[in-house]
Amino acid sequence: MSNILPFEATLTFTYRCNLACPFCYERDSRSAAKNELPLSVWLDFIDEMADLKMFRVRVTGGEPFCHPYFRPMLERLGKRNMRYFIISNGTLITREWADFLAGERRC
Ligand code: SF4
Repeated sequence: MSNILPFEATLTFTYRCNLACPFCYERDSRSAAKNELPLSVWLDFIDEMADLKMFRVRVTGGEPFCHPYFRPMLERLGKRNMRYFIISNGTLITREWADFLAGERRC
């Protein structure tokens, strides 16, 4: 049995997106929302990763800022001292989001 633990995970919280880039493979954002996991499942999953001492999480989509529960998910990552970075098109980052992210622990 190996003692090697996962170092990093990629979490796709949503396939929704506010844009429709012609080259994108995630273009049907309306049906994408139907297949999202509930918040409670994500929070449990984040806790499980933290318990495994996962170091870093890459958050992507779709456009993750489209997810209605994106902030509580990030808050849980921060609360569990997990570093994360976000892959985003950047168009939905408001002043409020910027202030929140400035106070968070990221990579
Ligand atoms: S911003 Fe990204 S996820 Fe959204 S449509 Fe464009 S390539 Fe796809």
